[in-house]
Amino acid sequence: MTQIIPFRSGINTCYIVKDRGAVLIDAATPGQGQSFSKLLSDSGIRPEEIQLIILTHGDFDHCGSAKEIQELTGAKIVLHEKDRTYLEESIFHWPEGTTAWGKISHTLFMPLVKKLIGKIPATKVDIVMDDNDLSLKEYGLEGKIVYTPGHTYGSISVVLESGDAFVGCLAHNRPPFVFRPKLPIYAMNLELLKESWIKVINMGAATIYPGHGNSFPVEKITKYLN
Ligand SMILES: [Zn+2]
Ligand SMILES: [Zn+2]
Repeated sequence: MTQIIPFRSGINTCYIVKDRGAVLIDAATPGQGQSFSKLLSDSGIRPEEIQLIILTHGDFDHCGSAKEIQELTGAKIVLHEKDRTYLEESIFHWPEGTTAWGKISHTLFMPLVKKLIGKIPATKVDIVMDDNDLSLKEYGLEGKIVYTPGHTYGSISVVLESGDAFVGCLAHNRPPFVFRPKLPIYAMNLELLKESWIKVINMGAATIYPGHGNSFPVEKITKYLN
């Protein structure tokens, strides 16, 4: 039985996924190690049970605490080759807006957020993804990591055989971004992002777990793909 434990941190939703093994999907903004540690103990999971830290992409709010959580758990960090420098070289990254609000909020908040967040603690990526799938079987999960570019060019998703799909910023589902499940309001290539959605849907994704906000049925997003 797969357990899905959301790790809510500010505007982010990261996930612990546990079956025969356990992984963490996304690592929030910097400085979240303590609250992650608390979630682990509240959930009865030992830090060393977490074998992978799968970063859906290299933005500051998804890999900010990767180094801290790695030190806590000893897990290997997974990130796609096209996004690895953001983490390995501490590059603050946040894609441009795709909607009016996306563009306005990006321009308005970028200087402030950049100042507040500061530098993302840099660390080495242990498993560098390319465009091929990576099976999670040896980590105790029935499913795989797949390449789903669009929000960034190195975005990846986790799709389980159960139909649970962890898509990072392939979708947004919370204010201040959106008020219901939608395509993200920030992206580097929206056409590529829609193709990634088709890929995820064709793999049997049924319940979508976004990087911001609550899970939702995949049907909620299909109308935005044409
Ligand atoms: Zn992002
Ligand atoms: Zn994000």
